Amino acid sequence: MENQITVDGLTFVPYITRDQIAEQVKRVADEIRNDLGDSSPIFICVLNGAFMFAADLYREIGINNSVITFVKYSSYEGTSTTGKVKEVIGLKEDIAGKDVVIIEDIVDTGLTAQKMIADLKTRNPRSVRFATLLHKPESSRTGYTPDYIAFSIPPKFIIGYGLDLDGKVRNLKDIYVIKEDYA
Ligand code: 5GP
Repeated sequence: MENQITVDGLTFVPYITRDQIAEQVKRVADEIRNDLGDSSPIFICVLNGAFMFAADLYREIGINNSVITFVKYSSYEGTSTTGKVKEVIGLKEDIAGKDVVIIEDIVDTGLTAQKMIADLKTRNPRSVRFATLLHKPESSRTGYTPDYIAFSIPPKFIIGYGLDLDGKVRNLKDIYVIKEDYA
């Protein structure tokens, strides 16, 4: 792991290691398998940020007769939320009667989560659950708490393991936090 990373003039320091990520991915996968192992769930990965978490989580869950698909929402510009959630790629699959698990990178204000869940519920699924790599409870504008959380963190801007800064640094294997916020 690098001690420090500079991108677009901002400095980031190590925050969560790849080993800690792997451990929590395994725990969340166990929880989901215990809850849904006997059904044929449909997993919905929210692009772009959740792609790496979803790949690892989906493999760990290991339900062979489950399906994974992808949607895309957008609310961030740079390092802060615009407050508006835009659907960029919608869901094509029929989810009526299915157990649905949304896989997201971060629940921050909760606006994206709330909009997605409301949208999906209009399509008559049997259940909708929500799994997130990171949760920032102090940033919540909705009071929404996801069903499965790998890490709860303070409201700091982070990058790596799928999370970007203006499209960059998603490749990092560990998670880094912006240095100015680092106590
Ligand atoms: P929400 O709708 O909950 O405010 O925003 C969720 C989305 O904002 C996440 O899916 C993610 O794309 C983006 N986001 C929120 N916090 C961070 C952060 O600390 N770092 C990065 N890279 N993206 C974030």
